[in-house]
Amino acid sequence: MKTMRAAQLTKPGRPLELIEVPIPRPGRGEILLKVKAAGICSSDLHYQDGRSQVTKLPITLGHEIAGEVVECGEEVKGLKAGDRVCLFYLVTCGECMACCTGNDNYCSEAEMLGKNIDGGFAEYLVIPARNAFPFPESIPYSQAALLTDAVATPFHALTRAGVKTGDSVLIIGIGGLGLHAVQIAKIMGAGQVIAMDLDRDKLDLAQKVGATATVNPRQDNALEKIRTLTGGGADVAAELIGLPETVRQAIDCTAVGGRTVIVGICPEEVGISPYHDLLLKEMTLLGSADQSRIDFPVIIELAAQNRLDMSYSVARELPLEEVNRGLEMLREKEENIVRLVVSFP
Ligand SMILES: [Zn+2]
Ligand SMILES: [Zn+2]
Repeated sequence: MKTMRAAQLTKPGRPLELIEVPIPRPGRGEILLKVKAAGICSSDLHYQDGRSQVTKLPITLGHEIAGEVVECGEEVKGLKAGDRVCLFYLVTCGECMACCTGNDNYCSEAEMLGKNIDGGFAEYLVIPARNAFPFPESIPYSQAALLTDAVATPFHALTRAGVKTGDSVLIIGIGGLGLHAVQIAKIMGAGQVIAMDLDRDKLDLAQKVGATATVNPRQDNALEKIRTLTGGGADVAAELIGLPETVRQAIDCTAVGGRTVIVGICPEEVGISPYHDLLLKEMTLLGSADQSRIDFPVIIELAAQNRLDMSYSVARELPLEEVNRGLEMLREKEENIVRLVVSFP
């Protein structure tokens, strides 16, 4: 039996272990993918810490994946060996009403790569062919991997928030998702795009990709500055961090009649006054979870047409043996990290 290396979480709180495991075989409707790039996401830290739970142990982490098709199982249509594809990370039933209406992230049978089933911190993986989306050679594998989460997730969230031409959009948290959220808001027609973060380097990056203003709560009175810039509050505020303070900040910075969309993972409770926060402001509070298959053709096209500037997106590529170092770098927020990517030759 042929084997491959996989970086697996064996117990929460422990570093991933590099283990030799059998290369899986593609069944009917599935492909075998040679992983070329897998992004390291803050969610991986949550799985490692047990803040967000994986459903099997050991498990190969990694859900932001791009690679090359090496083998197609029976009945696979539209893909062939050699195709460059990136993966929608939810393996769904494909048949329920949610799946058939573009809400596949609501599928009750959805299983997530690198959380419920083995993911991309491995040399190969098997996945249903309908999770794989081809992309052109002009997009490097490392950037294509980021399309699947760091781009798709804010795209889904800002689509849910219904950004319209001329809207003022506040992006709270300029990490892997935020840097792309700034650009997506612009593409959707936002007038002002305001980036908020505590890190000056990240705010500089946000400006390089099109933010019209930046707010650093360490230096600025954030609420006052945003109200001045927007004439009362942002039409859309996207929270991408997941801390009670920043969720509260997003709500406070949202304009009358505006929309707050929560993307960051915040299991803690946050106090809301239904009267002051929602009713009086006629404010809409939205959650956005993951993304949908229908987001993929759009974001791949945006990347292929160079509408997205991903030249700052990949901070560094690391080999699989250094995945734990990558996780630690992300945890310690070393360097000016947007995304670290595990790359395979
Ligand atoms: Zn992620
Ligand atoms: Zn389904």
